[in-house]
Amino acid sequence: MAVLSSSLSAFFIKKLVHPSKPTSIFSHYSTHPHLSAMNFPPRSKPSSAASATTSEVPDLPSNEMGKIVEQTFERYSSSDEAKRNGSGVAIVWFRNDLRVLDNEALVKAWASSQAVLPVYCVDPRLFGTTHYFGFPKTGALRAQFLIECLADLKRNLMNRGLNLLVQHGKPEEILPSLAKTFEAHTVYAHKESCSEELNVERLVRNGLRQVVLPPSPGQSTSLSSSNHPKLQLIWGSTMYHIEDLPFSTSSLPDVYTQFRKSVESKCTIRICIRTPTLLGPPPNIEDWGSVPSIDQLGLHEEKVSRGMRFIGGEAAALSRVNEYFWKKDLLKVYKATRNGMLGPDYSTKFSPWLASGSLSPRFIYQEVKRYEKERQANDSTYWVLFELIWRDYFRFLSVKYGNSLFHLGGPRKVEARWSQDQTMFEAWRDGCTGYPLIDANMKELSTTGFMSNRGRQIVCSFLVRDMGIDWRMGAEWFETCLLDYDPCSNYGNWTYGAGVGNDPREDRYFSIPKQAKTYDPEGEYVAFWLPELQALPNDKRNFPGKSYIKQIVPLKFGNITSSGDKDSASARRTAFRGKQRKGHMR
Ligand code: FAD
Repeated sequence: MAVLSSSLSAFFIKKLVHPSKPTSIFSHYSTHPHLSAMNFPPRSKPSSAASATTSEVPDLPSNEMGKIVEQTFERYSSSDEAKRNGSGVAIVWFRNDLRVLDNEALVKAWASSQAVLPVYCVDPRLFGTTHYFGFPKTGALRAQFLIECLADLKRNLMNRGLNLLVQHGKPEEILPSLAKTFEAHTVYAHKESCSEELNVERLVRNGLRQVVLPPSPGQSTSLSSSNHPKLQLIWGSTMYHIEDLPFSTSSLPDVYTQFRKSVESKCTIRICIRTPTLLGPPPNIEDWGSVPSIDQLGLHEEKVSRGMRFIGGEAAALSRVNEYFWKKDLLKVYKATRNGMLGPDYSTKFSPWLASGSLSPRFIYQEVKRYEKERQANDSTYWVLFELIWRDYFRFLSVKYGNSLFHLGGPRKVEARWSQDQTMFEAWRDGCTGYPLIDANMKELSTTGFMSNRGRQIVCSFLVRDMGIDWRMGAEWFETCLLDYDPCSNYGNWTYGAGVGNDPREDRYFSIPKQAKTYDPEGEYVAFWLPELQALPNDKRNFPGKSYIKQIVPLKFGNITSSGDKDSASARRTAFRGKQRKGHMR
C-alpha cells in the first residue's frame, strides 16, 4: 500500500476531526529519525529566588538528560525491520501510556501496518468535575504535567519518523472518523480497568462498528459489509502481566502478602518490548495539530513556587530513573529512606510518570536487575519492586471489585456514619486544621501536586478517623491535585485508609503526635511548608500550642504534647465518631 498521501486525506482530516489551531511548537526540532541528544529542548530554570525553595525532578541539565535518553533508547530499541509484514494503516490511540519504550500497542500497530497513525484525544470529560463532589477532575498542575508528556511524546515519535496527531474531543467520535478517513484496519490501545475508561472503550468499539471499510484487494464485496476497523486492547500498565497471574482476577487473594508471595514464586516479569528505531512513515497529514496550552484546557497556569516541580514526559522519566539509581546511587538505601517527607531523594518519585504511562514498570524492573548485577543487591533494591507489586495489586483489585472501589462502603460494603461537614473539609483541604503535620502536607499537595506516601497515610487517617469526614471527599480532592493520580492506586489506598477496603485487616489509625515525632523529629518538614513555625525551637514546631492556629478538632485518641504526655481532655472528646472502628494504631 502506498503511504496515504492524497490531499483528500488531508482535507478530510481537517474537515472531520477539527485539528487544533495553534501553530506547532515542534517545528524547530529535527524530524530525522535518529535519536540525537541535540533534539532535547533546553529547559528554563526557575528564578534564583524560587530555586532556593524549589527543586526540579529530575534535577539534571538538559544536555545530560538528552544523553541519558539517547543511551536508554538505544539499549531498549531494536532495528529489526524484518518483523514488519503488515498492510494498510493502523492507529495507535494513546491514553495513559505516553511513552515510546516498552509500548506494545505502538509496536503491534507498527508490525501490522505500512503506516502508523498515533493519536491522542484531549477528552473534555477529563477536564470536567469529579463524580460526587464536583471538584475539578484534573487540576492545573496535572494538566501542565500532561501537556509536557504530550510534547515529549510528540518529539520522541518525530525522532523515529512518526508524529502525534492531537485532537480535541471524545475518542468515540474522533477514532471512528479517523479510521474511516485513513481506512485503518485496527485501532491499538492499552486496556484500562476502571468504569469511566471502560465505558470509553465500549463507545469506541461501537463507533468503529459503524465504519465500513472498502474491500481490500482480492476480498469479495459481499464480505466487505462486515469489514470494520477493530479495536485491539493490550494489557501494559503493570509489572506482572494479567495473563501471567497464577489465578483469575475473580479469585485474586484479598490479602496483599498472599498475592505477592504467589506472583513472586509462580510468575516471571516479561521483558520490555523493544521499540523499532524507525517507526515511520506516518500517513500524510498536513496539520498534525499541536499540544494544547493550559488555557485551551480551560485552566490557568500555576507555577510551583515551593517544593518539587516534576517535569512531564518520557525523557524526564528515564532521566529520573538514571538520576535516582545510577547518578545519585540512592537505590541501595531506599528502604531506609522511603518514609521521608522532604525533598526529592527519600523515595524514587516515579509515580507521576508511571500514572501517565511515560514510564513502564517493566523498565524499572529491568533497571533494578541491572543495578543489582552491576552495583549491589540488598533489601532496598528488592523493596522498590515490593512497592511496585502494591501498585499492580491495586490495579488487579480494580478488575476484581469494579465500581465498589468508588462506593462509600467500599468493596466490603461497610456501613458507617460519615460527615460531609464543609467547614471541616475545607480546613483539611486548605491546610488550616491547626495540626502542622496535616497542614504542611496539604499545602505541599496543592502547591506541587505531590505528597509523600507517609503524608498521604497521615492526612487520610486524620480526615476519616479524627474528623469523621466521608473518605470520598478526600479521595476526590486527591484526584484533583495529584500528579500521579491513578484511580486504582488512589481509591484502593483510600478504601484501605478508611477501613472499607477488601482486606479487613488494613484498618489503621495514624497518631499525629507519634508520626510527627518519628518522621519529622526536628520539625524540618513542617517548617518548610509553614514558615511561621521556623522561629520555634525544633521540638516545638510540630507541637506549637498557642503559637499556631487553633486545632479544628481534637484527636480521636488524644493529643500528645511535645514531652509525650497525653492531653486527657481531648482524649475524652469523641465527637460523632462512635460507630467508627479504631483501627490499628500507628
Ligand atoms: P516510592 O516509595 O518510590 O515507590 C515506588 C513506586 O511504588 C511508586 O512510584 C508507586 O508506583 C508504587 N507504590 C508505592 N507505594 C504504593 C502504594 N501504597 N500503592 C500503590 N502503589 C505504590 N499512588 C499513585 O501512584 N497514585 C495515586 O493516586 C495514589 N494515591 C494514594 C492515596 C493515598 C491515600 C495513599 C495512602 C497512597 C496513594 N498512592 C498513590 C500510593 C503512594 O503514596 C505513591 O505511589 C507514592 O507516594 C509515590 O511516591 P514515589 O514514587 O516516590 O514512591
